[in-house]
This record gives sequence, C-alpha cells and structure tokens, in this order.
Amino acid sequence: MTKLVSIRGAITAHNSKDGIRQAAVRLLGRLYFKNGITDDNVVNITFTVTEDLTAFSPARAVREAGHNVPLMSCAEPSIDGSVKGCIRVMVTANSDNDAKPVYLNGARALRTDLTSVYAIALDGPSGAGKSTVAKAVASKLKITYLDTGALYRALGLKCLTDGVNTADGKAVEKCLTDANVTIEYKDGVQCVILDGADVSGKIRTPEVSMAASAVSAVPYVRQKLLGIQRDIASSSSVILDGRDIGTVVLPCAEFKFFLTASAKIRAKRRYDELTAKGQKVSYDDVYKDVVTRDKNDSTRAVAPLKRAYDAIEINSDNLTAEQVAAVITDCVTEDLA
Ligand code: C5P
Repeated sequence: MTKLVSIRGAITAHNSKDGIRQAAVRLLGRLYFKNGITDDNVVNITFTVTEDLTAFSPARAVREAGHNVPLMSCAEPSIDGSVKGCIRVMVTANSDNDAKPVYLNGARALRTDLTSVYAIALDGPSGAGKSTVAKAVASKLKITYLDTGALYRALGLKCLTDGVNTADGKAVEKCLTDANVTIEYKDGVQCVILDGADVSGKIRTPEVSMAASAVSAVPYVRQKLLGIQRDIASSSSVILDGRDIGTVVLPCAEFKFFLTASAKIRAKRRYDELTAKGQKVSYDDVYKDVVTRDKNDSTRAVAPLKRAYDAIEINSDNLTAEQVAAVITDCVTEDLA
C-alpha cells in the first residue's frame, strides 16, 4: 500500500563546487535506487549542509542534474563532535516500501547501526559462474560466502538416497520433514552438513543437480531453507549466491547483482569443471541439463529465478570470473568508501 515516507541520508563531500555537486547527486541517486523511487514519487527534498561546506548548494546541484521536484538547502548550526563536511538529506516521498536510509562515505559514521553488516545478493542461472565470482569477492572483501545451491543440493541428495521421486512434492516433503541441514565453515571453506554428516563431496554430480532443481520447486523446501540463509546473512557481512536472494531471501540487500551468460557458454564451463574433476560426462548432456534447469528454475511457481528490479545485470559471456569479481568489488568498495 502506498504511504508517505521520510527517507534520511547523508554523505561527506569536499568543499568545492564539483565535490558538493558529485556528492549530492550520488547521494540522491543511491537513495532513489535503494528505495525504488523516482522524481515522480517525491513530494519534496530538503538538504542541510554543515557550516564548512560553502562552495555550492546541493539543491542547485541536483536541480542542474535534472531533478525537477521541490528542493531546498540550508546551513546546519555547528554541533561539537558532529561529522564535518557533511550533506544531509530528507526526501519525502510516496512509496510502497518502508524507508531505507542511505549513509555514504564519512557519513556512515553517523549510523553505525546501518553500516556494520551488509549483504551482497548474487543471483543468476546455473553455470553463470556465480560461485567462482562469489568466492573471489568474499576473499577480497573478507566477508562470508554462502553458496545457497549447496543447501538445495543436500536436500536433493537426501531424496535420491532415500529413493524418493523428486517430482512428487508430497513425497519430497515427507522425506525431508526431519532432515537437518546446516552450514559449517572449516578453515574458511563452506561445508554442508546433512543429518550430522558432511556431504559436501557428494553434491556436485549431474544427478544431484537435477534432484536439487526438482526439490527446489517444492514450497516446503524453500521455506525450510529460508531461515538458515537469513540467519547466516544477519550475523556478518555476506555474499549469497543463488536464484532468489535479491527477490525473496534478502530483498533489502545493500547490493544486488544478476549474473548471466548464454546457455552454450554456461554448459561449456560446467563441462570443463566436471571433466577436470575426472567425471565422465558428455557436453550434449551437460547442455541439456543447463537448459532443463533454466526452465525449471525460471518457471516454478515459488521464488522463480528472476532479476530483482534493483539488481545490476552483468553478462559474463566475454568476461572472466576475475573481471566480474572486480566489477562487484569495485562497486561495493566505492559505495562503502
Ligand atoms: O547453484 P546450484 O547449481 O548449486 O543450485 C542447484 C539448484 O538448486 C538450482 O538448479 C536451483 O534449482 C536450486 N536453487 C534454488 N535457489 C537458490 C539456489 C539454488 O532454487 N537460492
């Protein structure tokens, strides 16, 4: 339901015309992006600036950048111990969502409650390179990585082991009701524990891939795994890779990316990965699996594979995993700077 919200934000800036111009435009852009609003939703915008920022007016900067809404800037009285060189904003807007404040650069110090933990959602189809990219990003940013597909794989494995027809939702639910799946990190490496046993080494076969894809369409399975994923994301800064992270698991993630690549390239990468591990597979079979899983994942009724409206799409057809990881880490570090 649409309601009137007041969205707060702040950023620090260099006291020059360009410094203030860039900071004000960036602050507003990020605030609009994070809150899913445009000028059309906005009732009015008020900027305040600390006394040391005299070179230019933020209201004028965003007006010149093309924002055509009621705008005002005024000076703040100086307060002992407050962040210097700071532009604050309050945007009053009509929105369907609760306000998500945005504090950037040195102004993050004003709201340490918002800044201590952040989440990166990395979604996309099978074989787009999400796990390689996510591992590289996690290692560069020194944050936790959660491969959510491993959870679905563990439950798919359990159904296969118990001889359950994975196309039968009721049978899947019955088989998994008492199954206990958890994640442990051993020397920084994610391990999936199914009913007390580490099954990480058994979940990467094509059979388990297809079983995971089938059980992931069962609402009971998605609900069972939702809490585990959110718990991990709430305790530390994380990057989660999956299909519905930006849309369902962490809709408020600070950063969202959607990684794609053509089915042929994804199949080739998966084929190379499996054969390098000594598995005997044919390229044609891997390609068929990729296409089938794409169809299963994007047409299922619950939490289908879908780009979140606010996710940045990256096509990796012509990019290496390192290049994609660099795009993501640059984007995050620039924002956290
Ligand atoms: O990413 P990975 O290929 O390991 O995932 C295995 C299967 O688990 C996917 O084909 C997909 O059906 C399912 N999955 C999902 N939601 C996630 C992660 C994986 O539905 N967040």
